Amino acid sequence: MQHIDVIVVGGGPAGLTAATYLQRFHRRCVLIDAGDSRALRIPESHNCPGFPDGVSGPELVARMHTQAREAGVAFESGSVDSLSRHDDGGFVVSARSRQWRSRAVILATGTRDVLPEVTWAEEAIACGALRLCAVCDAFEASDLRIGVYGPGRAVASHGRFLRSYTNRLVLIPTDHAFDASDDEAFADGATRVLAPGGELRFDGRRCAYREPDGTVTELDTLYPYLGVEAEHPLVACAGAGVERPGETVVDAHQRTRIPGLYAIGDMVSGLNQISVAVGQAAIAATHLHNALPFVPRAASAAIE
Ligand SMILES: Cc1cc2nc3c(=O)[nH]c(=O)nc-3n(C[C@H](O)[C@H](O)[C@H](O)COP(=O)(O)OP(=O)(O)OC[C@H]3O[C@@H](n4cnc5c(N)ncnc54)[C@H](O)[C@@H]3O)c2cc1C
Repeated sequence: MQHIDVIVVGGGPAGLTAATYLQRFHRRCVLIDAGDSRALRIPESHNCPGFPDGVSGPELVARMHTQAREAGVAFESGSVDSLSRHDDGGFVVSARSRQWRSRAVILATGTRDVLPEVTWAEEAIACGALRLCAVCDAFEASDLRIGVYGPGRAVASHGRFLRSYTNRLVLIPTDHAFDASDDEAFADGATRVLAPGGELRFDGRRCAYREPDGTVTELDTLYPYLGVEAEHPLVACAGAGVERPGETVVDAHQRTRIPGLYAIGDMVSGLNQISVAVGQAAIAATHLHNALPFVPRAASAAIE
């Protein structure tokens, strides 16, 4: 079994940043990643600081990966399937029948969007017909016909947010719990509300919604709000608490209630953004470095 300082679980923007910081603090760090970052789904981001012409998710992740590797981070591919606390306060982490011992662990396993139950979801995401992050990219959809799809309450709150981007908003509740009658955001008649119980469609370029009476409404882009998948099993396995799915409880230093276990990125924050993931990674890595035993730098050959 290999003994190291820190294991980072997850190689999206959060985990890659944390590992880069830790390695540059001269900590021995291994990053274990299952290779399914949400960022890999981003066709092109225009709200990522430092990329005025936009950057695709895969390119951004590749650049961050290169930066971490050049700092000296060791990478392992695979899914961590168990995480437990050792009697000495450290952790034992297992992935693909390999085991590591570490003083601390940073969880950066992200979250997974619940998508509409259609076969074409990934294809529609790739061309921007289906979007998953209004904070990230609603600006690019300004003045277009934007659809908002999901349970009534989610459609009401996210529809209100998106109304400031377009006066061609189309709300598509999946249940009968939606009531816009006393919401001033929808009071001017510019927002259409479609009947629940219809069918989402995609023609290879754009989505559309067919109401139960057969009326078809074409959409320039569609935001589904169906929530995130249930909590990552590792969070339960480690005994860290959650407020609700995708919201692991942490303090201001990104510490969970388990000593030595940190959590960062989409698995923690309500605001699922690359900039937030990267910021939390910097906070966690720096706090953890200062909490680990002090290691004075030995005289190096270069200085002698
Ligand atoms: C379509 C789309 C567009 C978006 N556009 C933008 C944008 O323009 N700007 C922006 O700021 N944000 C955008 N986002 C959000 C952004 O992608 C996320 O906020 C960001 O990826 C979160 O980073 P993370 O490292 O926390 O999680 P992730 O990037 O999801 O990475 C988590 C990693 O952990 C791995 N993992 C999970 N479980 C295990 C395990 N047991 N063992 C090992 N590895 C594991 C996963 O495989 C994955 O590689 C977008 C998201 C989507 C889906």
